[in-house]
Amino acid sequence: MSHPIIVLLGAPGAGKGTQARKLVDKLNLAHLSTGDVLREAVKEGSELGKQVKEIMEAGELVPDQLVSEIVYEKISGDKVQQGVVLDGYPRTLNQAEFLEEVTSGKERVVVNIRVDSEKLLQRLSGRRDCPNCGTIFNVHFSPPFKEDFCDLCGARLIQRKDDRNEVAAERLRVYREETEPVIEFYSTRESYFEADGNQDVMDVFEEIIEGLRSDLAEVS
Ligand code: AMP
Repeated sequence: MSHPIIVLLGAPGAGKGTQARKLVDKLNLAHLSTGDVLREAVKEGSELGKQVKEIMEAGELVPDQLVSEIVYEKISGDKVQQGVVLDGYPRTLNQAEFLEEVTSGKERVVVNIRVDSEKLLQRLSGRRDCPNCGTIFNVHFSPPFKEDFCDLCGARLIQRKDDRNEVAAERLRVYREETEPVIEFYSTRESYFEADGNQDVMDVFEEIIEGLRSDLAEVS
């Protein structure tokens, strides 16, 4: 079966972005991170960006309709021929139901990356992103060779505003309230599995690949 839709679930700081990038490279899939699309819109100062800037800076969720439109535009019909990794969507039950509708008939696999809650804040506070190539580092666990600069492209790394402590704590609260029900929604499905996100990046990746192997023909 081809064109799979791989949904990556997990709390902020669970490593969805890092694992999504690795999956996309290995399986030659498209990558859709709603957070990245929204951050880009804020940077550009577009109409969408103006609507969501304050919400994102406060660590709250952007209205379902706005994010679902982004997803619909990018993945409906045959737009992602090679399949896609969804990173950061769905985050509410409403979004999960919408995704069911627009992807009905397609192959869907849901991966939940679980990380102990006390680790998440530490992960978020240490995270540094490359604004140029998107590589994610962590000053505690996976620092760049040269402090503050990306190993891959040399750009200066940034700390996302919403990774600072207060906002990060709010994001975790919102996750528990809004997104945990999405896990319940999927957890009884056959094509749902969990990966232990407390491990090193490569070990988490191996576990995800292993889990996908039984579901997807293209994973060898
Ligand atoms: P992320 O990069 O996935 O952590 O997303 C950063 C921020 O973008 C979130 O804290 C939300 O404000 C917003 N966002 C991203 N994806 C969604 C979504 N599926 N639903 C609502 N808001 C979202």
